[in-house]
Amino acid sequence: MKEEAIANFAQSLRGPVSGRGHPEYDEARKVYNAMINKRPHLIARCADAADVMAAVNFARDNKLPIAVRGGGHNGPGLGSVDDGLVIDLSMMKGVRVDPTTKTVRVGGGCLTGDVDHATHAFGLAVPFGVISTTGVAGLTLSGGHGYLSRQYGLAIDNLIEADVVLADGSFVTASKATNQDLFWALRGGGGNFGVVTSFLFQAHPAGMVYGGPIIWELKDAATIMRWYREFSASAPNDAFSVFLGLQTVPPGDPFPKEHWAKKMCALVVCHNGTQAEGEKAVNAVRSALPPPIIDWAGPMPYPVLQTLFDGLLPKGLQWYWKGDFMNTLPDAAIEAHVANAAKLPTLLSGMHIYPIDGAVQRQKRDATAWGYRDAAWSMVIFGVDPDPAKAPALKTWAREYWEAVHPFNFAGAYANFMMDDEGESRVKAAYGENYDRLATLKKKYDPMNLFRVNQNIRPAP
Ligand SMILES: Cc1cc2nc3c(=O)[nH]c(=O)nc-3n(C[C@H](O)[C@H](O)[C@H](O)COP(=O)(O)OP(=O)(O)OC[C@H]3O[C@@H](n4cnc5c(N)ncnc54)[C@H](O)[C@@H]3O)c2cc1C
Repeated sequence: MKEEAIANFAQSLRGPVSGRGHPEYDEARKVYNAMINKRPHLIARCADAADVMAAVNFARDNKLPIAVRGGGHNGPGLGSVDDGLVIDLSMMKGVRVDPTTKTVRVGGGCLTGDVDHATHAFGLAVPFGVISTTGVAGLTLSGGHGYLSRQYGLAIDNLIEADVVLADGSFVTASKATNQDLFWALRGGGGNFGVVTSFLFQAHPAGMVYGGPIIWELKDAATIMRWYREFSASAPNDAFSVFLGLQTVPPGDPFPKEHWAKKMCALVVCHNGTQAEGEKAVNAVRSALPPPIIDWAGPMPYPVLQTLFDGLLPKGLQWYWKGDFMNTLPDAAIEAHVANAAKLPTLLSGMHIYPIDGAVQRQKRDATAWGYRDAAWSMVIFGVDPDPAKAPALKTWAREYWEAVHPFNFAGAYANFMMDDEGESRVKAAYGENYDRLATLKKKYDPMNLFRVNQNIRPAP
């Protein structure tokens, strides 16, 4: 590409553009997962929607592949691309809460923690994920589940409107009132349809919660998992969410030294209601189960729960993921989970089962592009370590674990819990029965598949 064309492009933006050789290039190309080492041709850090429109037009006209980056947290690093243009929205972090309508306007580059911080001042929150350094955009566009999902639904269920730059460079707003088909597709179809520069969300009451981890040794895991299965099936109070993890007690403060590096089964609870109701709900869990080795559940501000595990998972670790949607947890599956958790390859690796019933299941199956309103849980197996030399071991363990439990699960996984090596059939399975409608809309909004660095939906023929 001609230097002059690049210079003209850079000149036309408010935000900086870095190419290879630029002093900030190596820092700017890093994503959260250090296993990803892509070398884009250019990285455009956009300051506003005008920059995004210019970037989309420039990439399309110069036949550069595009990657769109919100928070850069995506497992397979789909916020970057070799030899293409990264449209990085990380400078677009405006958040404006309207306490009257209980809505929040969120810039396309915000992290979930940016929004939690702003809404908490008004006693409000939007249901996002459980680590606050995750990007709102990537999380929301593929669904977005977290502690408040049983009560208030997925992030997409609370999306009111989105501003989008389409493949032809035009700017549109999608909502229930305008561009309804695009609005449907954005709510679960990932980054396939355009670049979202701004989101408008409905927020809900969430101030103090009764939450935190309760931890048992792995020898109790089968008991805890069987209890968890019955507890979930009895559909308790939607204000109460419990996710289950098989992991290792981190060997460091504030964890008690006698438990360092022990393999564990954890329940991470969150009750969003009064303190008395929260205590009652968590006490019922405590009294149903053997005595834990650590019990840190208690009252805390919602953003504290949201940031509780951030410190354990800084940017720059090696990550390999595999997921599945689930509806059953038979004894044979529990046995396979416990056997594979006993072989965790590193201290940070593990498996989580997140509840997605309650309000998530009450949405109509065809209300949004999210294809699994009948799943009770979203599971993820994650191999994680700081050492790049461990990457092969992380992959082998996660794949073997997944092979052992997948027969008990749905065919598809949450698109945000997949790498990019699973093949088209798994991508189709992730979108479930909405795939064909999504492919038709892809043909309408992005017929040349300009936005293809994602869990890609090919335009219908
Ligand atoms: C430690 C950790 C914990 C997690 N916990 C949860 C959880 O509790 N719940 C949950 O639901 N998910 C969770 N996730 C998964 C997370 O939702 C995905 O990794 C998601 O892709 C991150 O979004 P991002 O904006 O940071 O990603 P990026 O890497 O920036 O982008 C990923 C993809 O999203 C699309 N995209 C990003 N921004 C835009 C935009 N503005 N417009 C259009 N498309 C865009 C693009 O297709 C891009 O390829 C977790 C991830 C990690 C690493």
